[in-house]
Amino acid sequence: MKTVTVNIVTPDGPVYDSEVSMVIAKTTSGEIGVLPGHIPTVAPLAIGAVKLKGQNSEEFVAISGGFIEIRPDKISILAPSAEVANEIDLARAKEALARAEQRLAKKQDSIDFQRAELSLKRAMNRINVHEGNI
Ligand code: ATP
Repeated sequence: MKTVTVNIVTPDGPVYDSEVSMVIAKTTSGEIGVLPGHIPTVAPLAIGAVKLKGQNSEEFVAISGGFIEIRPDKISILAPSAEVANEIDLARAKEALARAEQRLAKKQDSIDFQRAELSLKRAMNRINVHEGNI
């Protein structure tokens, strides 16, 4: 089985480093499935799940944007924050979701609204990834 090395890195350090047989990521223009040997590509990522498929395994990582750099033998994801599913603090994500919902319910300027919307998306993404609801 062909494999490709995947690195996921954030400003806090590396989050994931493994060999996988397929990566599915959510770019800002849609979902992509990447197999080993893919032509070099760079794409911006949306807030979403990255699915990492091994021969008999599947792992999920919550990504809060950033970029994916694809090379035939290596895929690098650079993200402002990223968490492997089982390391997500569900209670914290639910609190962040509730805070964002409260902020969105208030009348406010568009910058605060956008920040609250992004916060809501990050929290929902973490909850979905933690629950395997991808
Ligand atoms: P919060 O309001 O809970 O801090 P946030 O979306 O503002 O959420 P970020 O700024 O995206 O948080 O992330 C800050 C740091 O906290 C990052 O290292 C991120 O991986 C981590 N983090 C945020 N939420 C969670 C969570 N629910 N579980 C585990 N780590 C988290």
